Amino acid sequence: MNIPLNSVGVPVVQSGPTYRCFECGKPTKFRETFGKFLANPRNPSPLDKWADHIWYMTNVEPERCHCPKRVARLGDSITVLNLSGDRDLPNYDERLRHNIAEVKESLTRIMMCVPEHERKQDEATRLVYGLWQGDLTPPVAIEAIRALISNQTLPDAAAFLLHRAPVRVEIDLSV
Ligand SMILES: [Zn+2]
Repeated sequence: MNIPLNSVGVPVVQSGPTYRCFECGKPTKFRETFGKFLANPRNPSPLDKWADHIWYMTNVEPERCHCPKRVARLGDSITVLNLSGDRDLPNYDERLRHNIAEVKESLTRIMMCVPEHERKQDEATRLVYGLWQGDLTPPVAIEAIRALISNQTLPDAAAFLLHRAPVRVEIDLSV
């Protein structure tokens, strides 16, 4: 898959299992990479429908940077998402239309760059990278692999890693 690079040499769509900041290229740790957009039930918005696909990257010391971190996400694939605030577009309806169009455009970019079956990593990949990045200790990783093979309950740390991404890998953009 040949995904174009942006001006700092980061692919415009990243599917992990390691990620880099789209603005400065600093690495982000697998487990700390995402935080999900939270819809406000007291202030519902048509954008809430897309909340499952609006995420924020974070990174950790010593790689911390202060770049904009909002991304669109489909499965484990992410790309930059440029939403406008009320300073950029004071008119609510106009802002909403613009932002929904931005979400759709970003998700379209992911769909064009990454085939559906490549938008999510399998469990073995996550365990190996989790171990490599220090999110799992070797004994926990071994226990998790044994649990996967024998279809038994995963250790908590591994369960977190394997189930951290319930995001769908496909979406209908026509609605
Ligand atoms: Zn950065």
